[in-house]
Amino acid sequence: MQLYSTNNPALRTNLREAIFQGLPVDNGLFMPVEIPVMPAEFSTHLKHLTFQEIALGIAKTFIGEEIPDLELERIITGAITFPAPVIHLDDLTGILELFYGPTLAFKDFGARFMAQVMAYFNMGETQSLTILVATSGDTGGAVAAGFLKTPGIRVVILYPSGQVSPIQEKQLTSLGHNISAIEVHGTFDECQSMVKQAFLDKELRQLFRLSSANSINISRLIPQVMYYWEGYKQVAYNNKPIVFSVPSGNFGNLTAGLIARKMGLPVHHFIAATNANDTVPAYLSSGIFTPRPSIRTISNAMDVGNPSNFARMLHLCGSTWNMMQKHISGFAFDDIQTREAMQYVYSTHNYVFDPHGAVGYLAWKKYQETIRNHDAFGIVLETAHPAKFREEVETILDTEISMPSTLARLQAAEKIDVPMQPLYTCFRNWLLENLQ
Ligand SMILES: *Cc1c(COP(=O)(O)O)cnc(C)c1O
Repeated sequence: MQLYSTNNPALRTNLREAIFQGLPVDNGLFMPVEIPVMPAEFSTHLKHLTFQEIALGIAKTFIGEEIPDLELERIITGAITFPAPVIHLDDLTGILELFYGPTLAFKDFGARFMAQVMAYFNMGETQSLTILVATSGDTGGAVAAGFLKTPGIRVVILYPSGQVSPIQEKQLTSLGHNISAIEVHGTFDECQSMVKQAFLDKELRQLFRLSSANSINISRLIPQVMYYWEGYKQVAYNNKPIVFSVPSGNFGNLTAGLIARKMGLPVHHFIAATNANDTVPAYLSSGIFTPRPSIRTISNAMDVGNPSNFARMLHLCGSTWNMMQKHISGFAFDDIQTREAMQYVYSTHNYVFDPHGAVGYLAWKKYQETIRNHDAFGIVLETAHPAKFREEVETILDTEISMPSTLARLQAAEKIDVPMQPLYTCFRNWLLENLQ
C-alpha cells in the first residue's frame, strides 16, 4: 500500500514507513493512495463470517501486499480478541458496543492492531524500539495495554499528575513488564513538550530507536474500518438504509467509517455527533472550518476544537463542502442535553449510555426528525463502557452501575510509576539510564 501526505500528494511512502513515522515530514496526514474495494462475494457472504474472518478479509485486501497472509492471521488473532455486538434499542436503532477491550473504549481496537503490526515490522531489528507517548488519559491506557508484553518494543508514557482519573491512572501505572509510566508534576502540554524534545534530540536518536503511537497513525484506522463491517453484518437482514452515528472528537472513528464505505460497505449516511466542541457540525452547516480552543464537557474524550482527521475526511469525501454534506450530517449537543438523553434512555429502555454514546444517540434522533425517509436504521457507536465514567454516570442516573471485572481487578492493582519534574533534562537522563 502506497500512502501520500494530505499536504502534498506527491510525497509518497510505504506502510512500514508511515507507521513508524506517524506523521509525514510536511505535517500532513498519511492517506492510502488507493482504497481497495472488497470483492462482491465478501459482502454477500458477510453474514456467515465471524468478526475475525471479516477483520482478516479486510486486512488482506488493505495490506496483504506488505504483510504475508500467515502473519496477518497472527496479527488479527492477537488484536481482535473481543466482540463488537449490536444491541437493539428500538425498531430503528441499534447500538454498536465497542467497549469490550482491556481499557473499555474503542481505542483498544486501534492500539492493539498498531502494536501487532509494529511488532511485525520490527522483527529482525536488533535494537529494541521505544514508543514515547504523552497522554491526557485515554490514549495512553489503550496504547499501554495494546503493547503490553510485545517483544522488542518498550513503551514510556508521560502523564500529568492529578489530572487523569483514578481508573485511568491505574491503567497507565499497573501494567509493568515493557511499560513504564512517568508521573509528571506539570500539565499535559508539558508532557507533550518533553516528548517532542526527545524526538528532536539528535544525540538521543542516535542512541535509541524512538517512535510515537499517535492517534493519527494510519495503522489505528485500519481496525476501526473492520467493526463498521461487523456492525453492518448484524443488521443487514432488515434491508433498510443504514446510518452510522459517530460520537466524535478527533474524527478518526468517522474517518474509518468513510474508508469502510469506499471499500464497498453500503452505508446510506454518516452522522458527525459532537458535544459543545462543534467545529465539524458548524463546518457542515456553514462551509467554513474554524478551529477553536477546546471546551470542557462530560464527554471529555471528545473535547477537541481542532479535529486532526478533518483533512482526511475532506480527501475521502471529494474535497468540497457540498460533497461532504452529501455523506455526513453534523449535530452538536451540550451537557444538559447529554444528561437528559442518558436519563431518558435509561428510564424508557433500561439501557445505560456513557456520555459519549449518549451524544451519538441524540444526533441519531435529531437526524431521524429531519429526514423524510423514515425507514432508515441507525447504528449508534457506543465508544466507551459507562463504568469508565462511573461517578458521572451514577450521579446522572441516580443508580449504581455494575463494574466489569477488568475494572474491579484494576482498582486493586498496585501503582508503579516514576515521579518527575516537568523538565526535559530529567526525562533525558531517565531515558539514558533506563533504555538499554
Ligand atoms: C477518543 C474517543 C472518542 C472520539 O473519537 P475520535 O476518533 O477522536 O473522533 C469518543 N469517545 C470515546 C470514549 C473516546 O475515547
